Amino acid sequence: MFVKGLKCRECGKEYPDSPLYVCDYCFGPLEVDYDYDKIKKEITKEKIKSRDANMWRYQELLPIKGEIKIGKNVGYTPLVKADNLAKALGVKEMYVKNDAVNFPTLSFKDRVVSVAIAKAREFGFKTVACASTGNLANSVAALAASSGYESFVFIPANLETGKVLGTLIYDTNLVKINGSYDKVNRLCTEIAGKHSWAFVNINLRPYYAEGSKSLTFEMLEQLGFKAPDNVVVPMAGGSLITKVGKAIDEFDYCGLLNEKPHTRIFGAQATGCNPITSTVKEKREFIKPVRTPDTIAKSLAIGNPADGYYASDLMNKTGGYGEDATDEEIIEGMKLLAATEGIFTETAGGVTVAVAKKLIEKGYINKNETTVLAITGNGLKTLEALNGKLKEAPVIEANLDEFEGVLSKIKRKK
Ligand SMILES: *Cc1c(COP(=O)(O)O)cnc(C)c1O
Ligand SMILES: [Zn+2]
Repeated sequence: MFVKGLKCRECGKEYPDSPLYVCDYCFGPLEVDYDYDKIKKEITKEKIKSRDANMWRYQELLPIKGEIKIGKNVGYTPLVKADNLAKALGVKEMYVKNDAVNFPTLSFKDRVVSVAIAKAREFGFKTVACASTGNLANSVAALAASSGYESFVFIPANLETGKVLGTLIYDTNLVKINGSYDKVNRLCTEIAGKHSWAFVNINLRPYYAEGSKSLTFEMLEQLGFKAPDNVVVPMAGGSLITKVGKAIDEFDYCGLLNEKPHTRIFGAQATGCNPITSTVKEKREFIKPVRTPDTIAKSLAIGNPADGYYASDLMNKTGGYGEDATDEEIIEGMKLLAATEGIFTETAGGVTVAVAKKLIEKGYINKNETTVLAITGNGLKTLEALNGKLKEAPVIEANLDEFEGVLSKIKRKK
């Protein structure tokens, strides 16, 4: 365990390794601080490669003490070489980091929750909780169940059936709140002040956020310990994207990359809730919250993103950019990924594909470079979005003539 404690991202004030998340001096967000010189001496490519194929193979750079007992099978999802998609988009090389098949609840949130619940265990909490746009709800409920914790899950009342039933099945305490995610989050901050529960994305947020780094560590290892030219990352609160930057820097500092990284980091949002991409596009220094998010990409619908400023700063600093996609473009993105690579992603993945397409068309992503798309969730959880959007399947009697009649009308692939 190489954690020194927590540190304020704004003023640098240091705090002990504890369930704190805001600086009491300047109100800045706290971040986990490690002893990197010690880590650099310990961690090697050989050590990493000798370990089990899950997110804990990078344990030196994750903030957990002792033996890993929670979320042991999470992570090490496939990095798919997406040649068909690359061809469709007119670029040389593209990969899909496919967290649509992450264990156990089919989204990248299993990574952050594993770290947060493991930390809740270290700190002696008995109850875990979260404010969620859907995937976090599934993940907290599932991982609390498998690790024997009581859980409370708070969501906006209008989420997709897959996200609701996919939470209730784990016998959690689910509470639906009338209003947007931002209202849910505000209520949860009050609840966290009253009950001493481990809110994974509130009082344990610094630790939760560290879990996202594992997606990038895996991507770098799977590319042969090399960083790609470009990464496209979907953004809700903006935590995942900031940790893409942190993870690349850490691998570089620890001497784990075969060449100096120069990755441009691109952020993707839905046009109906784009507080971060609009900041980048309008070259603003501050986030203007979106009051009433309106998009089918509900998992990304956070109007007032906690890490929005840092996300926008990272895109600017790395030479990346922010772009957004309309609901129609999101559906087209989902269909394109499925039809080219056989990968069924949820609406958030549709956002990522649609934004990548735009960035290529507008020349922000160079056609001769390598680009990785972070596909963070599974399409089976957002089926509603596709109602009436796919071609109808014919219904026939079990009769060869009827089938031949249908066949004569089908446009076949060459
Ligand atoms: C939560 C989530 C994200 C990104 O979340 P951040 O809050 O920006 O870290 C991306 N994709 C999906 C599917 C998610 O559920
Ligand atoms: Zn501070």
